[in-house]
Amino acid sequence: MQTIDNFNFAGKKAFVRVDFNVPVDENFNITDDTRIRAALPTLKKILADGGSLIIASHMGRPKKNPDPKYSLKHIVSHVSELLGVDVQFAEDCQKAQAQVAALKPGEALLLENLRFYAEEEGKPRGLAEDASEEEKKAAKKAIKESQKEFTKVLASYADCYVNDAFGTAHRAHASTALIADYFDADHKMFGYLMEKEVKAVDKVMNDIQRPFTAIMGGSKVSSKIEIIENLLTKVDNLILAGGMTYTFMKAMGGKIGNSICEDDKLDLALDILKKAKENGVNLILASDAKAADAFSNDANTQFVPSNEIPDGWEGMDIGPDSEKEFAKVIENSKTILWNGPTGVFEFDNFTSGSRAVGEAIVKATQNGAFSLVGGGDSVACVNKFGLANGVSYVSTGGGALLEAIEGKVLPGIAAIKG
Ligand code: AMP
Repeated sequence: MQTIDNFNFAGKKAFVRVDFNVPVDENFNITDDTRIRAALPTLKKILADGGSLIIASHMGRPKKNPDPKYSLKHIVSHVSELLGVDVQFAEDCQKAQAQVAALKPGEALLLENLRFYAEEEGKPRGLAEDASEEEKKAAKKAIKESQKEFTKVLASYADCYVNDAFGTAHRAHASTALIADYFDADHKMFGYLMEKEVKAVDKVMNDIQRPFTAIMGGSKVSSKIEIIENLLTKVDNLILAGGMTYTFMKAMGGKIGNSICEDDKLDLALDILKKAKENGVNLILASDAKAADAFSNDANTQFVPSNEIPDGWEGMDIGPDSEKEFAKVIENSKTILWNGPTGVFEFDNFTSGSRAVGEAIVKATQNGAFSLVGGGDSVACVNKFGLANGVSYVSTGGGALLEAIEGKVLPGIAAIKG
């Protein structure tokens, strides 16, 4: 497989798919440029080699072409500043031929939002709500055809293809996967960010040092079921925390008061417990809870066993016994995966459990463990507690990471790995 380090971009035009889907305020000022910064090492390496950049991204979910609210022109000056070159802008990602042809080594061109065209995602747009099944089928077929043309145009701009957009690696879109077919194996590669993400996922899915502990939190078991099932075939310890605790407690006959619970998932919870036993996985649920008499930061609180929550109270975080028990298991681990908070961490009075988990992961990491934190709220947790630098890797890809740990093959990765 080709790698970015082994490729000399001198005199080459590189089509680089990045994830510049950054949040902007009402005046189009970028409020968090983490995703742009994450792609800089790749972009800078190509320029330093004497290559030229064709930078491509999506932003938001535009519904038409053009959709000024989602234009990437608002970020051009910031990208220029970070990259240290004046980035040019192509107002139509399908009509950039002249600008691409004029690009000199060391120059960069940012294409307008790829998703202005429905062909990027390959999903029909503007279908009438009462469209018949036949009309829907015809529209799908038509967009798949025009997607081929769209992809071909993007590919025609460049000599080589670099995918550095892990955040969209779980999508089989034109610029994230299909375009790779237009390049020989030695002319397509991951960017540095993508390489790091792929390596991190590999360390928790394949190249596992034991013991391996996964901590899954969050609100519902139903949204994590595929991940839990896949992890049950891989981990030594599975800590299940957060709101899903109470579905398990109720399933086992416990009292959960007003705690969040999915009543239609009680059998599923029992099934997970059974599978864990069959697979020899040490499944750990919180033994105690910090319960509150309202869903509020200022509610009255008490620590109670997680299966004895009084009527009128709800479990909002794990209690001190669970913190200690979780920390002990985490600190003895060599591979750690954390997804989802142990409680309602948005309220300052219910952050203690998530903080304890984060701190235990940092300690284990200092002792040589590999730790991966990812998927939505756990990233917010480590950032909120200032622990991000103490873990081995914080994933930038929410949905993509979750699909990868569900065991799915990500189209953006497969397109390059073959
Ligand atoms: P998820 O998106 O599934 O990872 O869930 C994250 C959300 O779960 C956060 O917004 C937390 O506030 C919420 N959460 C965690 N623990 C609880 C709990 N015990 N009760 C209600 N919500 C919770």
